[in-house]
Amino acid sequence: PRKFFVGGNWKMNGDKKSLGELIHTLNTAKLNPDTEVVCGAPAIYLDFARSKLDAKIGVAAQNCYKVAKGAFTGEISPAMIKDCGVHWVILGHSERRHVFGESDELIGQKVAHALESGLGVIACIGEKLDEREAGITEKVVFAQTKVIADNVKDWSKVVLAYEPVWAIGTGKTASPQQAQEVHDKLRQWVKANVSEDVANSVRIIYGGSVTGATCKELGSQKDVDGFLVGGASLKPEFVEIINARA
Ligand code: 13P
Repeated sequence: PRKFFVGGNWKMNGDKKSLGELIHTLNTAKLNPDTEVVCGAPAIYLDFARSKLDAKIGVAAQNCYKVAKGAFTGEISPAMIKDCGVHWVILGHSERRHVFGESDELIGQKVAHALESGLGVIACIGEKLDEREAGITEKVVFAQTKVIADNVKDWSKVVLAYEPVWAIGTGKTASPQQAQEVHDKLRQWVKANVSEDVANSVRIIYGGSVTGATCKELGSQKDVDGFLVGGASLKPEFVEIINARA
């Protein structure tokens, strides 16, 4: 069985005071030990989050660059992330793709370098509303997944996050059936294009307006192996989402 994985993506939110309070809530809450929990902190707070969070809770960076060091003003590398005791990075988030214009090619290069550097990667994919309405959801997410897959050797370090762009920050959570349908198609794609073993073992998590109210039914879908949570990961409600399968 695949271990349930719940990631929080704090995005560009919080300060030491509010994140410190959130961390205290997480450290003292009763969390399902069968769920892997990772908090995605802003780069400048990675050290802070890692030093304050209980060791059983993982930390992720929200982005990184494709090489270890050099003249790349403003960027951070996987080596630096690891130096802060952090073992995960979120790559290919829709905000990186659509607000900051990151291409599939760049995301693929980042995935390869992050994995080679020993980080785990939460690799994000997802269609925009016009793409869903045009009936090309599968085409879009398969193409994004292919670029990621072409850059992965060790799938044990990869979590795939399906985040339909129309569901992110909109309050329009995908229905459990909509999520399950795409997760199932993605697993079939992995089976056909990577291997049956990887298809059975890779965690495919859902992101997009997940809340305490929507997490249980979503999390009970056969191919939904967890969540990537934005807004609700900044609230005590995140504990409920972590315990969706408890
Ligand atoms: P929301 O949960 O705020 O919709 O954000 C989802 C997301 O983008 C997680 O990466």
